[in-house]
Amino acid sequence: MNADGAAWEQRSVARVVSPVQPRKLAKVPFVELADGRLQGVVSSGSDIARVYVSSITAGTHAFNCSTNNNRPCGGLYGSPCKHLQALAGEAVLQYGLDQVARYLHVEVGDGADLMSCLNGRHEPTPGAMVFSRFLRHLSYLELPGTTGPIAEMHWFPATGAIR
Ligand SMILES: [Zn+2]
Repeated sequence: MNADGAAWEQRSVARVVSPVQPRKLAKVPFVELADGRLQGVVSSGSDIARVYVSSITAGTHAFNCSTNNNRPCGGLYGSPCKHLQALAGEAVLQYGLDQVARYLHVEVGDGADLMSCLNGRHEPTPGAMVFSRFLRHLSYLELPGTTGPIAEMHWFPATGAIR
């Protein structure tokens, strides 16, 4: 290996906040604990061009799911849809159950499922802000290469693609 290669490799070890466990980015490309909500963007299972913005409010556990065009999710029949289930599952992988439960103010007993411990109702919540943040995160994909860490990229898995 030449000197350039070695230097490149050294720079490429910029520290990245790894998820607690690997996440399924294709299914839930964006998840965050922000604005007093667990919220994120969930891919449609059937339509590759459609995404849902799903959220669960801390404290009240009010939940909402709508398309990026602000159409209500058809799966919300009084209970959280599969997108919310997926969001919660991925949040637990990303942040760990303890942190998500603390953020949402929910007691999750040993071995219990996060979603089954929530007792909120459906409550429309504007999703546009979440979606625009998601798009901003995506725009980092188009940034020129950098050797410094970009905090917002932390939801990408560290691939360790060095060689
Ligand atoms: Zn949904």
